Amino acid sequence: MKMPKRVRRYCPTCKKHTLQTVIQNKSGRKRGAMTMGQRRHERRGGIRGYGGFPKPKPEKSSRHRIKTSKKIDIRFECNECKKKNTYKSTFRAKKFEIVKIGV
Ligand SMILES: [Zn+2]
Repeated sequence: MKMPKRVRRYCPTCKKHTLQTVIQNKSGRKRGAMTMGQRRHERRGGIRGYGGFPKPKPEKSSRHRIKTSKKIDIRFECNECKKKNTYKSTFRAKKFEIVKIGV
């Protein structure tokens, strides 16, 4: 999906349509690489019976594949009041880019 860098959109602060810049929130909060269960699993020696956890990740090509698209987190910055507004509904897309269109 492609998104123009600047859009005319309603700003709840200005209570009118203003020119807003699209900002993509790239880095979300990073979680640790290992979950609590995984750490416990490792401490117990790993291979002392398979307790069903952690489950092996399904392969991308398999029938029960994990989602290939990602939720996109974008924000709109109002050029007049410089407030950032979030998008009402998040949506999914495999690819997302902000394209520059001369405004
Ligand atoms: Zn505004």
